[in-house]
Amino acid sequence: MIVIHLSLADSETVLIKWDDGHESRIPLRTLRDACPCAGCKGETVLLHSYAPVDHPTAPGAYTLSGAHPVGSYALQLRWGDGHETGIYTWDHLRSVCPCADCQRR
Ligand SMILES: [Zn+2]
Ligand SMILES: [Zn+2]
Repeated sequence: MIVIHLSLADSETVLIKWDDGHESRIPLRTLRDACPCAGCKGETVLLHSYAPVDHPTAPGAYTLSGAHPVGSYALQLRWGDGHETGIYTWDHLRSVCPCADCQRR
């Protein structure tokens, strides 16, 4: 299952088309809050846990300013506040799809 197309459905929603025919409409807010990078999710370094930032508050944090493929397994998203360390794998992207089908899985 891979992403074959990604575009903005409107200013707050991203539209993702999958090679199995599925279409995901994911609110940018959901996508940003699901950012998998260490800064957003927290990390454990040498037994010390660094707490993640709760919610980004910078202007533009919930605006998508770019997307680049990473190999053939993921997408790097750049946000309006300059944040771009999140690598969204296909699995991760699919898991945040808010549709009933995906949430049931
Ligand atoms: Zn992040
Ligand atoms: Zn879905």
